[in-house]
Amino acid sequence: MKFKVNEDACICCGACQAICEEVFEINDEGFAEAKDVEVTDEEIKENAIDAMEGCPTSAISEKKED
Ligand code: SF4
Repeated sequence: MKFKVNEDACICCGACQAICEEVFEINDEGFAEAKDVEVTDEEIKENAIDAMEGCPTSAISEKKED
């Protein structure tokens, strides 16, 4: 499972990084970015999903690869 952040929707609150720093980081502009990693660890995945569902602007989504 991978994640992505819509920078246009991100309001730079930092919550996602606080919840799951293994996946989300705040870049130099203050916006969140999802690391381009396949998340396989169940605990990290649960935290990342919590961050996705908790994002106040729904800026985080699952990154589907096709
Ligand atoms: Fe941006 Fe949402 Fe992360 Fe807050 S929780 S920094 S709005 S992506």
